[in-house]
Amino acid sequence: MKPNKKGLNTICTHVGELEDKQFKGAISPLYMSTSYAYEDVDIKRYPRYFNTPNQEALCKKIAALEHTEAALIFGSGMAAITTSLMAFLQAGDHIVLQRTIYGGTYNLVNEEFDKFGISYSFTDGFQPDDFETKIQENTKVIFIETPSNPLLTITDLKAIGKISKRHGIVSMIDNTFASPVNQNPIDFGIDVIIHSATKYMGGHSDICAGAVASTQEHIERIYQLAKNFGGSLSDYTIWLLERSIKTMGIRVKAQNENAQRMAEYLYEHKDISQVYYPGLQSHPNYELGKSQMKGFGGMLSFELSDGFNASEFQKSLELIKSSMSLAGVESTVISPTLTSHALLSTEERKEQGIKDGLIRFSVGIEEPEDLIADIEQALEKVRYSRVVATH
Ligand SMILES: *Cc1c(COP(=O)(O)O)cnc(C)c1O
Repeated sequence: MKPNKKGLNTICTHVGELEDKQFKGAISPLYMSTSYAYEDVDIKRYPRYFNTPNQEALCKKIAALEHTEAALIFGSGMAAITTSLMAFLQAGDHIVLQRTIYGGTYNLVNEEFDKFGISYSFTDGFQPDDFETKIQENTKVIFIETPSNPLLTITDLKAIGKISKRHGIVSMIDNTFASPVNQNPIDFGIDVIIHSATKYMGGHSDICAGAVASTQEHIERIYQLAKNFGGSLSDYTIWLLERSIKTMGIRVKAQNENAQRMAEYLYEHKDISQVYYPGLQSHPNYELGKSQMKGFGGMLSFELSDGFNASEFQKSLELIKSSMSLAGVESTVISPTLTSHALLSTEERKEQGIKDGLIRFSVGIEEPEDLIADIEQALEKVRYSRVVATH
């Protein structure tokens, strides 16, 4: 299969559409059947075989978006991550993982890998050398996540691709934060691209799904496990996900623009002491980000100046909701200390550069003026309570 060469929004809207031959409807029909007529030994259609009409169609769209030959859709991002990792690891093998990765991936490795006899090393930093020095004789996979959560650190895709080729091991990326709109890791030599489709692909905080995109050969290998592990997604949700992805290009570009605007506003603000956003020239990885991303994404983090209470600030926001998840069209904030990194000690968090007052901001598609007005009124409230407290 040749990678699709159409432009982003055309791929989002059209690639992989199913034709409604019966009624000539404008959109893909939804096939909910779990039972199909037997065609031959190789084509037995069944949801858990990942080959229902809606699944196959949406996989084409996702593969086209990631410039890969093939893709698979899963019931969650973690199902995609687990199945992809296990397809390339077995007892006696070793994996190198970036030090800061999604909490669920960290828990999978930390809580489950010992019992499968798979050993692992987390890097000390984000530089290519930090990865290469951890590689052992039995290392089979390098796993990265860029931009990272919550400090939006950027890992060098090209360098990681080269290291993995040099050592004959498979490189994998969790590409969720960037989305395929902003970053296509295969173009930089990364082998396996994983998404929590719950985030930017779904984009409306109402779908839980995952995806993996790679070469036909790698996807075939992951598929062999996938049908045994059984983490497929319902066709109804697949159909909803297809609809969501139609607007992903324009949604994410709007979120890129809003996030840039919010990052610049926060950066200039006297009550904000730190802003982490790869689109700011002050970000240590700005140049690297620019070299491998088409947009800097909708995620950023910031710290309030000393004396401001971060949780009071979050409670005072009216338009911007406090929410665990991210990447929806609505803006949300969360405290990593209270959620994704709650299980770490203050010391461990400090080691990772995560201060207790850090706020992660998933920027939506609202008018930026309204987001700014909301932040201003919330700062005003906590500023007032701060003055009262000192008297
Ligand atoms: C949410 C998330 C996941 C896990 O996805 P689920 O769909 O919740 O299983 C993995 N990686 C990143 C970066 C995420 O944000």
